[in-house]
Amino acid sequence: MSNHPNYSFFQSVEKSFDKAAHFTKWDKGLLEQIKACNSVYSMHFPVKMDDGRIEVIEAYRVQHSQHKSPCKGGIRFSEAVNQDEVMALASLMTYKCAIVNVPFGGGKGGIKINPRQYSVYELEKITRRYTSELVKKNFIGPGIDVPAPDYGTGEREMAWIVDTYSSLKPGEIDAAGCVTGKPVSQGGVRGRKEATGLGVFYGVREVCNMPDVMGKLGLSLGVAGKRIVVQGLGNVGYHSAKFFRENGSKVIAIAEYEGAILNENGLNEEEVFQHRKATGSILNFPGATNITDSSKALELPCDVLIPAALENVINKDNAPNIQAKLIGEAANGPLTPEADEILINKGVVVIPDMYLNAGGVTVSYFEWLKNLSHVRYGRMEKRFTENMNAHIISQIEHLTEKKIADTERAFIMHGAEEVDLVHSGLEETMITATHEIMDIWRKNPEIPDMRTAAYVCAINKVATTYTELGIFP
Ligand code: GLU
Repeated sequence: MSNHPNYSFFQSVEKSFDKAAHFTKWDKGLLEQIKACNSVYSMHFPVKMDDGRIEVIEAYRVQHSQHKSPCKGGIRFSEAVNQDEVMALASLMTYKCAIVNVPFGGGKGGIKINPRQYSVYELEKITRRYTSELVKKNFIGPGIDVPAPDYGTGEREMAWIVDTYSSLKPGEIDAAGCVTGKPVSQGGVRGRKEATGLGVFYGVREVCNMPDVMGKLGLSLGVAGKRIVVQGLGNVGYHSAKFFRENGSKVIAIAEYEGAILNENGLNEEEVFQHRKATGSILNFPGATNITDSSKALELPCDVLIPAALENVINKDNAPNIQAKLIGEAANGPLTPEADEILINKGVVVIPDMYLNAGGVTVSYFEWLKNLSHVRYGRMEKRFTENMNAHIISQIEHLTEKKIADTERAFIMHGAEEVDLVHSGLEETMITATHEIMDIWRKNPEIPDMRTAAYVCAINKVATTYTELGIFP
């Protein structure tokens, strides 16, 4: 995805930051420090391909802020990777972590490759070499900088990273915490895979439950019955669609780069995923209408639009045509600053990326804590809770002389497993963050949009940490 002609992606983030900084009272120098990228590591390394050719790989890791350690953020594999993009994404990570009270600084990595053009073995070599370059420069480690999946990467790549790191750091007891988003068998946490999509759902649901916001948009309360358009059927788009559908919304359209499909009665993301896997394309899905120009799906009439792919997909050219009332930014940076202005004037509410897609890093935090504590969530209390619940049920039955139905019994008995605790921690985090941002917005009517309110929230938190550190007395 090319950068917007007027602003680079990083400049867009700076622009949004400046707009929000205006509503805070922090020292100008402190604001400059918060905005700046602290460390930028740009690298080139050679990798021998399957056919014997040597290819020079361009890659980056940016640590935007070390106001808290470690730095945290994904690694993306994409042909569009460049330094500016990684800097922008690393900055968003700082603000994202601050908003959801995850005690990390922001980081991001990128390798400039199209992963579809490499064999699995080549990808493994690239990932392992990238990891050893990070180790060499002390740019990775459970207390330094902790990567995670992003666009074009997943559990498999994270398993390669943790294995490479551990073999280079023998005896490091917390080595598993050098990366998150790992397979469960390699120290991952249950619930990480769906975390970003589930967080998107929780965040949008919370806004949809706010009478003042829904009233202004002319929408009914709640997510049930809402008509949703999702752009991107990767991990985030897939899981966002899944949770909306399971909670009574209708996913009327799904877009991918080869085209989009529309069915007013609602689409099932798993069936669409299987169809795409079998045919190589999202198009020609049974019962749906094809939209060959994928970007046109963004302009469909709907209640909620969820861009869950890449940055800058809604810009000054197509923003005037957007018909959604609410936009949930599941991707990082899907709207340009010009698009923001146009949509504010149209009365559209945009739920901003750096808060809405924070579910991924929130559950990464839980995974990192699990790695440092070396114990699975729920291990200590599950059986205790179940024994206690069984006792309560038997007392109720004894005192009332009535039997509790089997399904109710199973539900009440259940002691929390790892995935239950992770989902509960995520739900609490997203609900709290929504209210923190909304309170800032409601208290200051001059703040024009939710993104600016979210930036104000993030700036206040990061600035408070800096001030408490005493660096700026
Ligand atoms: N890549 C994800 C993001 O942009 C997750 C980062 C993480 O888990 O550290 O938020």
